[in-house]
Amino acid sequence: MRIFFALVGTLMAASGGSLVAQNTPSAAANSGVGVVHLWPVQRNIYAAVGPGGNTTISVGDEGVLIVDTMTAEAAPDLVASIKSLSNKPIRWIVNTHSHRDHTGGNAVVSRSGVYVATGNTRGGGGASILSFESALMRLNGSAESPDKAPEAGWPTDSFFVKQKDMFFNGEPVVTIHQPAAHTDADAIVFFRRSDVIAAGDVFTPDRYPVIDVAEGGSINGLIAALNTLLDLAVPQFNEEGGTMIVPGHGRICDESDVGDYRDMVTIVRDRVQDLIAKKMTLAQAKAARPTFDYDGVYASPSYTGDMFVEAVYRSLTAAPASAQRAPSR
Ligand SMILES: [Zn+2]
Repeated sequence: MRIFFALVGTLMAASGGSLVAQNTPSAAANSGVGVVHLWPVQRNIYAAVGPGGNTTISVGDEGVLIVDTMTAEAAPDLVASIKSLSNKPIRWIVNTHSHRDHTGGNAVVSRSGVYVATGNTRGGGGASILSFESALMRLNGSAESPDKAPEAGWPTDSFFVKQKDMFFNGEPVVTIHQPAAHTDADAIVFFRRSDVIAAGDVFTPDRYPVIDVAEGGSINGLIAALNTLLDLAVPQFNEEGGTMIVPGHGRICDESDVGDYRDMVTIVRDRVQDLIAKKMTLAQAKAARPTFDYDGVYASPSYTGDMFVEAVYRSLTAAPASAQRAPSR
C-alpha cells in the first residue's frame, strides 16, 4: 500500500502538479502557458498550478483578482495564463502568507496589472496587493525573514483585524485571518457567490502540513484553520461537491477532503500529545512513529513524517522561536 501511494505521488509530481481531478471536467480544460496550467474551479473562479503554491483567479467585469503569485521565475507564465483567461486588467493580488513560493511573483504580476484607488499607499500603477499585517512586515523587511522582497512586491494594503471584506466581480470576497496556523500571517479567501475558498498552506492535501514555528505557526492554530474551512464549506450531495477548496499545494478539493485531512492532523497531534504526556523526548517521540500509518499518503523526502512529528512536538512544547525552519514550505 505504501508503495502504491508513493507511486501515485511520483506520477502526480511528474505530471507537473496534482490538481487532477475529480472536479475538472475534461483534459481539454487544462490550458495555460509554459510551466503554469489552468483549471476551471467553479463559476468565474480558476486555479493555476505551477512552480510554487497554487494561484486562485477570479475573472469578471471588474477585472482580475488573484490569490498568491507562485515564484518569481513562474510569474511571467502566470501572467500570460491569466491574460489567456481575460483581457481585463489584473487589479488585486491577495497573499495568503509571506512564503516566497506564494509571493515570489508579486512584483511581476502587480506590474502587469492596473492600480485601483483604495487604501493603496504605494500608488503609481500596478495591481494592489493585500495581506495580513505580519506578512507585509516580513515582505518589507520590518520583521526579520527570508521572505523579504523587493519593494515592488510589497503589499500595498494590509489588515490586522479578523477579516477584510471586499466586493469584486459581483461577489463578496472575504479574506479571513487564521491566527498562528501554518505561520502567524495566514489568511483564507472566500469567494462567497462562486462558493470557492483559496486556503493557502493551512491546507495541503498532498503532504503533511508544514508548521513554521519560527514564523509563529502552531499545530493547534492549524487545526483551528482546518475547522474554519469545514465551517464555511457546504457539500452539495452525499458529502460531495458544493464548496470547492483550492489548497496551497495539491488538487482541488471539497469539504470531505478537508474533513479527512483535519482528522489525520488531529489524530497525529493527539498521539504526539500523549507521547509528551508520557515525558518522552523528541527522539523518543519520533521513534514511536506516530505518523506510521499515514506516511504512505502524506510523507515525501522533502517533508517526512519525522519532520512533521518534530514540528508538532515543538509546537506543543512551545519551543523557542529559534526552532529550525522547515525546509519544505
Ligand atoms: Zn507556506
